[in-house]
Amino acid sequence: MGYSYNPKSLCADEFINDEEILETLAFADAHKDDVQLCYDILEKCKPHLHPASEHGAMITHREASVLLACEDAGVNAAIKQLAHDIKQAYYGNRIVLFAPLYLSNYCVNSCLYCPYHAKNREIPRRKLTQDEIRAEVIALQDMGHKRLAIEAGEDPKHNPIEYILESMDTIYSIKHKNGAIRRVNVNIAATTVEEYRMLKKAEIGTYILFQETYNKEGYKRLHPTGPKSDYNWHTEAMDRAMEGGIDDVGLGVLFGLESYRYEFAGLIMHAEHLEAVHGVGPHTISVPRVKPAMDIDPDVFDNGIPDEMFEKIIALIRITVPYTGMIISTRESQAVRERALRYGISQISGGSRTSVGGYTEQARPHDTEQFDVSDQRTLDDVVSWLIDQEHAPSFCTACYRAGRTGDRFMSFCKSGQILNYCHPNALVTLAEYLTDYAKPDTSQKGFALIERELLKVEDEKRRRQCAEAISAVVHKGERDLRF
Ligand code: SF4
Repeated sequence: MGYSYNPKSLCADEFINDEEILETLAFADAHKDDVQLCYDILEKCKPHLHPASEHGAMITHREASVLLACEDAGVNAAIKQLAHDIKQAYYGNRIVLFAPLYLSNYCVNSCLYCPYHAKNREIPRRKLTQDEIRAEVIALQDMGHKRLAIEAGEDPKHNPIEYILESMDTIYSIKHKNGAIRRVNVNIAATTVEEYRMLKKAEIGTYILFQETYNKEGYKRLHPTGPKSDYNWHTEAMDRAMEGGIDDVGLGVLFGLESYRYEFAGLIMHAEHLEAVHGVGPHTISVPRVKPAMDIDPDVFDNGIPDEMFEKIIALIRITVPYTGMIISTRESQAVRERALRYGISQISGGSRTSVGGYTEQARPHDTEQFDVSDQRTLDDVVSWLIDQEHAPSFCTACYRAGRTGDRFMSFCKSGQILNYCHPNALVTLAEYLTDYAKPDTSQKGFALIERELLKVEDEKRRRQCAEAISAVVHKGERDLRF
């Protein structure tokens, strides 16, 4: 049966339409040498050209694909510069920090790129008890984390929704010293509207589900068995999540599995689809690349992308979906992360362990890891490194807890309001971190950064309130103050 492209359709074959993607790639090839067209497309995205309410027009997946295909050095430099400017306009120099928490590596699927696949008989299977989760969360709180992304394989017997809900409840309930986990994002398999409703009730932050690949044929090859092998069920999951009341959803592609140009067009079309149907685009977009792990050799997948192209993709996602939070994990090295931060990344993980129960082990365990961690620095090292580059590390979770989610967050972000709230919130939460967890050297330069950043809060009243809140954190021991 032939499908035609329709971004408003709820059928995956129509909103991620193969024919439309192939035509997009042909269109991009036909126009990639038209340097003037590329500059014209970039011009439309410049934040200062638009009133605050729009704050930068979004371009289409076709236009973005032309930019991706263009090989002109001048255009490519302009793409990176514009991505940097857009990140500054929407998010300022704040970088939000989080950590993954692996609950269980039991899984009934057979994804060819993941060591948790059901046929891997070598990997020790492990699922954390609630007591073990408590110990992990305390270890994470002692590092200074406030925001987690919980991860579990798909296994109705070992990891049913009740287990995930109970785990979220446990995580939110732990108050250890001055620590608290204030936002739990959830990365679990595609499920029913009913179960998404349960996650919403349990106060999920963002529901994260990586598409892995938008190429349906490739998807079938990479997922030979298990519930995840159903491409449409997986691709339509975000619509069910939104129907279930979750309005912050996070997209992502596993770059390296299939052609990056196809994936890029599919990813942008998915964002356009969410905007067209729900009026809310993706809250976040992640950019993982296939990495080595037990039983997994990334060279088996012949679509690996070099760092230079990877950075261009990051820059173009920032330009095309300017309001979205962009996430890069410790899969990537310090050097790649450093450059990616310049081109639009707004959230990073730090001090991560990608094994089940990894945070309570003295040495980094490898036996249950989902992927090799390239950036193995501690959270404090990461905070210190961000400060050295004049980024403002943020542990803020205020929007979600003040009900600024979904379309409310989007209009807040698109109208530039984020800077009046997020910047002060970033500084107050950084002051908490520096007071409670930082090494003396990090603390010293962190407070010096706060002094400099306070001057950027334009509204005088808000600047005074922010300074007062920071003083209350440092001198009166108050916590969880927010705007
Ligand atoms: S990617 Fe997810 S679903 Fe696939 S094998 Fe790994 S844990 Fe299971």
